[in-house]
Amino acid sequence: MNSVRPSCERLDALSPYDPKYLPATCLLSANENPHDVPKEVRTEINRRLKTMSFNRYPDPLANGLRDKIAEANGLERENVLVGNGGDELLFNIALAWGGPDRTFLNVPPTFSVYEQNARLTGTRVVNVARREDYTIDEDAVLTRVAEGDIDYLIVASPNNPTGKLADEGFLLELLDATDALVMVDEAYFEFSRMTMRPYLAQHRNLVILRTFSKAFSLAGVRLGYILGNADVITQFIKVRQPYSVDAVSQTIAEAVYENRASFERGIVSIIEERTRLVDELSKLPEIKAYPSDANYILFRAEGAPSVWQGLYDRGILVRDFSGAEHLTDCLRVTVGSPDENDRFLMELKQILIERRRA
Ligand SMILES: *Cc1c(COP(=O)(O)O)cnc(C)c1O
Repeated sequence: MNSVRPSCERLDALSPYDPKYLPATCLLSANENPHDVPKEVRTEINRRLKTMSFNRYPDPLANGLRDKIAEANGLERENVLVGNGGDELLFNIALAWGGPDRTFLNVPPTFSVYEQNARLTGTRVVNVARREDYTIDEDAVLTRVAEGDIDYLIVASPNNPTGKLADEGFLLELLDATDALVMVDEAYFEFSRMTMRPYLAQHRNLVILRTFSKAFSLAGVRLGYILGNADVITQFIKVRQPYSVDAVSQTIAEAVYENRASFERGIVSIIEERTRLVDELSKLPEIKAYPSDANYILFRAEGAPSVWQGLYDRGILVRDFSGAEHLTDCLRVTVGSPDENDRFLMELKQILIERRRA
């Protein structure tokens, strides 16, 4: 046969996730940590990898790592599940709580993967758009969940790409107002230092997502985890691929997690640089910068695609959201090292000066 019957119809409206990663000397588009894993931790990782058996299957649930994460969060192993990046767990929530005849409530603009996964699993998507300033339209969300048909929600806090935390009081109100599973995506928790962790015991419908990709410099390794109540974790375990987290990733993540204190200086530097970047961006009359609790800053500039191109021509890659719904003229820059941030600011100012002359 030189033809193939069509794939599942749901895929027709979908396109593959595109991180829009391009070669550049200054990579400020993917919210990665500008610093790789510290040298002494790298040495420890290499030591452990040397004695690993590659011919054996890994521990399917990565219990060694699970236990370390549980202990650090004052929880039990049953309250933790690790995944192949946070992304796998975002897929798993759609498999376990979504599906045909089920409904996902989304608060755009936010991480596009949420809606993509819902569509992929045939889940109905109810979008409650954020307000003009990108805060959640809290009344609209509470009113909508009161209808009783929502099966799960995801709230990124801090929100990607807009940067701010969700209001804790609102999240608690939401958890009380619905029995839908509420995932609070804390991928940037280490930069916001705010967590819903204290509320897990009182709210069986709360699950928290975290990742090693941002603060812990492991975007290339693929390791994320959720914290939740044991019965919720069990449902996630049912839908996951048995060996999704490979032995190498487990070993690297364990060494990194044990040594997470050595990442603290880098995190503090990013938080300080974030303040500096917002301050500097705010001085530019053509730019509107949105304050951030994460390691990136959303900013608006008229003619954003040409600003993006100007930066890229000068070797700096930022993320262009200007074509996305609710994000007209918006670009997102990751907080890099002080040198990278200087370079970004200098080139951006240069681009704006040239535009004023034209
Ligand atoms: C980066 C990110 C994640 C998880 O990324 P992984 O690399 O798959 O762990 C989850 N949610 C948001 C909002 C993110 O920005």
